Amino acid sequence: MRYPKLRELREAVKALVKGPYTTKFPKEPHLPFQRFRGRPEFSSKDCIGCGACVQVCPSGALSMRDEGDNRILQIRWDICIFCGQCQANCLTEKGIRLSQEFDFATTDKREELKQEIEKPLVICQCCGNIIAPYDQILWVSERLGPLTFSNPTLMLFYLQRQNLSLDELTKDMSRYIKAGKVKKELLRVDRIRILCPRCRREAVLKS
Ligand code: SF4
Ligand code: SF4
Repeated sequence: MRYPKLRELREAVKALVKGPYTTKFPKEPHLPFQRFRGRPEFSSKDCIGCGACVQVCPSGALSMRDEGDNRILQIRWDICIFCGQCQANCLTEKGIRLSQEFDFATTDKREELKQEIEKPLVICQCCGNIIAPYDQILWVSERLGPLTFSNPTLMLFYLQRQNLSLDELTKDMSRYIKAGKVKKELLRVDRIRILCPRCRREAVLKS
């Protein structure tokens, strides 16, 4: 014998008294619950361009590419599955956050449903290869505290932030490259320069 579904009956009676559970969206605006996972958005201020979120995104909605001396991070909202992995694994915990935005109705092409931010890159002053985004190096140097002075690249960035840098050109790497200052050969003096790990090793061994 099958018993009546008492729980469903109770909910039906409750709905008769309290009204329907559904909202009247889009006739009336809808405010999602506080923990609702809506459209993820980058914060230009808090993102350091490390790319950790790109590595964990299961749907491939996040991507990054290096163009010239800039890293471009992109999020495609038409591909995103709103899992929240990017926010959970963000290095700064504030670089990308899921908003409460859920309404994607648009007449634009789906490729237009995206956000892009640019992060300037730091280039090795010897070989011209990319080291890391400028903001990422600053972020690391801030967390290391006094240990920053154990690495000449980080030390130069710290001094630059305090407006004490001896080399004004390190403030603008593109100006540095355009000025033809990228060196091909390392000398002892090059140890106090902004170098990639490979050139740093070479400079230390040569001196
Ligand atoms: S919410 Fe998930 S799918 Fe969407 S961008 Fe973040 S990691 Fe990728
Ligand atoms: S700081 Fe956060 S949002 Fe920015 S690239 Fe790194 S993980 Fe992604």
